[in-house]
Amino acid sequence: MPFLPSLPERLAAVVGASHVLSDPALTASYAVDWTGRFRGRAALVVRPGCTSEVAAVLRECWTDGVPVVPQGGNTGLVGGSVPVGVPGAVLLSLRRLSGLGPVDEAAGQVSVGAGSTVAAVAAHARAAGWDFGLDLAARDSATVGGAVATNAGGEHVLRYGPASAQVAGVEAVLADGQVLAPLGAGGVVKESTGYDLGAMLAGSEGTLAVITAVRLRLVPMLPSRVVAVVGVADTAAAQRVLAAVRREADGLSAAELFYADGLDLVRAHTGLPPPLPAEHPAYLLVECAGRADPTDALAGALAGVSEVRDAAVATDAAGRAALWRYREAHPEAIGAVGVPVKLDIAVPPAALVAAEPAIRAAVSAAAPSAQAILFGHLAVGNLHVNVLSAGTLADEVTDAVLRVVASHGGSISAEHGIGRAKVRWLPLTRSPAEIAVMRAIKSALDPRGLLNPGVLFPLHR
Ligand SMILES: Cc1cc2nc3c(=O)[nH]c(=O)nc-3n(C[C@H](O)[C@H](O)[C@H](O)COP(=O)(O)OP(=O)(O)OC[C@H]3O[C@@H](n4cnc5c(N)ncnc54)[C@H](O)[C@@H]3O)c2cc1C
Repeated sequence: MPFLPSLPERLAAVVGASHVLSDPALTASYAVDWTGRFRGRAALVVRPGCTSEVAAVLRECWTDGVPVVPQGGNTGLVGGSVPVGVPGAVLLSLRRLSGLGPVDEAAGQVSVGAGSTVAAVAAHARAAGWDFGLDLAARDSATVGGAVATNAGGEHVLRYGPASAQVAGVEAVLADGQVLAPLGAGGVVKESTGYDLGAMLAGSEGTLAVITAVRLRLVPMLPSRVVAVVGVADTAAAQRVLAAVRREADGLSAAELFYADGLDLVRAHTGLPPPLPAEHPAYLLVECAGRADPTDALAGALAGVSEVRDAAVATDAAGRAALWRYREAHPEAIGAVGVPVKLDIAVPPAALVAAEPAIRAAVSAAAPSAQAILFGHLAVGNLHVNVLSAGTLADEVTDAVLRVVASHGGSISAEHGIGRAKVRWLPLTRSPAEIAVMRAIKSALDPRGLLNPGVLFPLHR
């Protein structure tokens, strides 16, 4: 056993014996990621119920020099939430930190536990007449802490920005057990007294501190919504349709792209009928939302664009959800076929038309029998590149795609993070100076390197 025999008992004294798991039958599900690609082993799973318990658990681990892997909903797609290659790690599950504070009407904000799911926060906000600007297909399991730690994006980035834009303040615990509770986390809306420590945790992927609570900005609830799925010839046509909608329709809140091959997998997996009478090479899903009904404005914008081959439009909740399903079911439909290499890239939107075929060509050259399924968030130039049947060539495929992305001035991760999956490619798009600063921050906050070793930076051997 790589940790002191007394550790489980000391941790049980903090969180209660029922929240310290060591039986492999109970810990196994925590140690494998959503895709099934990353499988590790957690020596212990510890489930604290409040910030002071998180602090006490981290102090015990710090004392013994035990590595800690923070985990929220375990929906992350880059292997950052599971202990792979970290023998003797304590997996710290934050799901019990799921408290939802009262909506602060004066500030338009709410404080929530880091383990609250994105869906729970949205429902809580809506019950008070507000809404939450972050949404993603994993909403029922993904936690706010995980979303901030990965700076998640999702479906409404073009309107509300990524997770970091929703954050007004963060409460977190350092590796040695010290609690950071900046004023923003307590509801002070404006503050300029030095470094914004909470903001630094966006995208930190559990390597700097454990997030225990988040103060979130809420957005207005917009009662009228319309969703359209538009059949188009290709990526360039989808971009031209999107540009028209942006120019002419108010309230654009989502613009998603998928292709015929991905739709085929979705239909095979879900049994859904085709969204449009005829098949098209590519599909654009757009959603507009507002106080006034945006349907006519959207229909008018679509009517004026020659690239629109056909469109299905829905205004009622069930119809909108049915159209969204064609896009949101992509990850599970792909996962049903096999374990994909998952990449999540962004290029400047103007470079997307050139980058998309270059990415497909790079996959074919690196792994001729692989299948690349692309889909993503069109307005922000973010494509999810899912490669099936890469076999032993996963690294070659990753390398080829990420080099194409770098050559188009893009980012190797738009919203999923680096995790363990992409550590060796970080220098492709972050300069030596940037990486040196990131390492210096890591050493300052976690000098013993105990928080999520192997994520963002290579493991020390
Ligand atoms: C079907 C599906 C669709 C998805 N769609 C999107 C999408 O559209 N946009 C998008 O951005 N992502 C998407 N994702 C990825 C994933 O849902 C997000 O990254 C999500 O934010 C992760 O939250 P989580 O609670 O599951 O975090 P986990 O997977 O548990 O952890 C992710 C990372 O955050 C760290 N972490 C978790 N909680 C904490 C904490 N409290 N303190 C410190 N570190 C922590 C972990 O150590 C790990 O490095 C999708 C995933 C799935 C399965």
